[in-house]
Amino acid sequence: MTLFPEMIRDCCRYGIPRIAVEKGLLKVVAWNPREYATNRHRSVDDRPYGGGPGMVMQVQPVADAIKSARRMGGGPVLYMSPQGRRLDQAAVRRFAQMPHMVLLAGRYEGIDERLIEQEVDEEWSIGDYVLSGGEPAALVWIDALARLLPGALGDEESALRDSFMDGLLDYPHYTRPESIDGKSVPGVLLGGNHADIERWRMKESLGRTWQRRPDLLEHVTLNNEQQALLAEFIRERQLAESE
Ligand code: SAM
Repeated sequence: MTLFPEMIRDCCRYGIPRIAVEKGLLKVVAWNPREYATNRHRSVDDRPYGGGPGMVMQVQPVADAIKSARRMGGGPVLYMSPQGRRLDQAAVRRFAQMPHMVLLAGRYEGIDERLIEQEVDEEWSIGDYVLSGGEPAALVWIDALARLLPGALGDEESALRDSFMDGLLDYPHYTRPESIDGKSVPGVLLGGNHADIERWRMKESLGRTWQRRPDLLEHVTLNNEQQALLAEFIRERQLAESE
């Protein structure tokens, strides 16, 4: 639901969303509330009661556009809002199971509060900063959801290994050449021993999470091997720092 449907359509022509659309796994319909405005000038916004800067999106065009969208399929209406719950991978995984949903992008100072009370099921933010419109947030949703749809990624495992999927950050990746300006690819990745490679990747994943996002470790239960790998990573790091 957007005043700028082309922004959404254009972005769905690239990358994984495009593949998901082409494979018929994803359908994105951009609804423009302006087409539902019943006033003579087809305006969708008006000045705020009480005065102050900016304009506010009106109830009628958005409510009618939502009704049309609902006729295509049910699902929750999610308002893209800096005041909403912060989006994370757990939420993306939950919503990726749902057959339909309406993503509502605000503009101006936002949407008349009565529409939010009447029509919106949940408010979701993409972070603690303010965008000028909800379209970039809706595109974040579309992209994050598309890559979790079975069949959208060439290799199903690649999504499962991404950051946050198991509560940890991803391990580092390397490709050719083997050496650049004296910096070499870690030897274990060249050895061809899959068990060693898996062990190294798990250790890096745990170590990175510990270094960069220790808060995430509070929410995962590490098995014995993972605990040992993390302890090994920390020991090696401390040793390197003391040298
Ligand atoms: N006056 C609003 C406030 O301070 O809460 C901000 C309005 S913002 C300029 C216009 C629109 O951008 C909002 O209606 C919302 O749809 C979208 N938006 C802005 N920041 C966002 C964020 N962090 N996450 C999701 N949507 C956002």
